[in-house]
Amino acid sequence: ATPTALMVGTGRGAQLGILIKGPEVLESTRRVDTIVLDKTGTVTTGEMTVHSVVAADGESADDVRRLAAALESASEHPIGRAIAAASTPEDAPVGIGSEIRTPRPQVSPAEGFTNRAGLGVEGVVDGHAVVVGRPSLLADWSQPLPPELAEAVDRAQGEGFTAVAVGWDGRARGVIVVGDTVKPTSAEAVRELRALGLEPILLTGDNERAARHVAAQVGINGIVADVLPADKVAEVRRLQEMGLVVAMVGDGVNDAAALAQADLGLAMGTGTDVAIEASDLTLVRGDLRVAVDAIRLSRRTLGTIK
Ligand code: ADP
Ligand code: MG
Repeated sequence: ATPTALMVGTGRGAQLGILIKGPEVLESTRRVDTIVLDKTGTVTTGEMTVHSVVAADGESADDVRRLAAALESASEHPIGRAIAAASTPEDAPVGIGSEIRTPRPQVSPAEGFTNRAGLGVEGVVDGHAVVVGRPSLLADWSQPLPPELAEAVDRAQGEGFTAVAVGWDGRARGVIVVGDTVKPTSAEAVRELRALGLEPILLTGDNERAARHVAAQVGINGIVADVLPADKVAEVRRLQEMGLVVAMVGDGVNDAAALAQADLGLAMGTGTDVAIEASDLTLVRGDLRVAVDAIRLSRRTLGTIK
């Protein structure tokens, strides 16, 4: 295509809510045949809410909620934001977005907050070393789940929820069950992607049953679940080694490396800056249907009908 055509295409993209890093990006967009979709925040709203809090025998659910919330108040992750917003029952109905955070005088903020992408968070709250994250993370840190918590995790996952474990001072103390909803436009986007000849694959760090639950709602057949951030990159590379031209859509810190590895990285404009920086295209409104617009636009701009 001529430079003029590419510039016109880029301008048209901006009107559609697609920010394109450079004109050459349209060329890679045109060749894509496989599209890998992150689950949380990409196919789902990422506006998670706390469904329930389960305490281990002898522990208080209120402590579990309170210490987890104090730690997660420094977190950018959708799970962290949900837990922070639910720190007290009064707060629960309001805060989903970070912009409506209310002060929580009853807990001091965490010291030494550390985010382990795709695993969870750790830090010190009120003198306790607190960990919140995927149940296997706690087990790795010699905090195996007692049977009543293991059961709570199993039950929650069976219902399509995400269960995170909470531990402090070397012991697993509770489980927080969070849920997410599929974006209303995701199913239509999946149908349109397939109509353009692109096979969607759901890639997530979440558990397999939660992934299957979402995939069924939007009509995706391929699922890769329980994936650590580093393995998201490996999965994209594996598809590329099969000769596929891979687009990846994501929003999180944990997606950044995979977005950079993909032949075409698309970031949700509603996502983290790290994901946006790693991508070739940004979908300003965070609507998956705009990924379809981007592919159509590039094919039209470059004059190819597939
Ligand atoms: P996704 O691929 O769906 O965006 P992530 O890779 O970000 O998911 O996270 C994978 C898993 O790691 C989550 O399902 C959760 O168990 C755990 N996790 C990640 N970040 C946090 C956090 N801030 N608090 C608790 N758990 C977390
Ligand atoms: Mg995500």
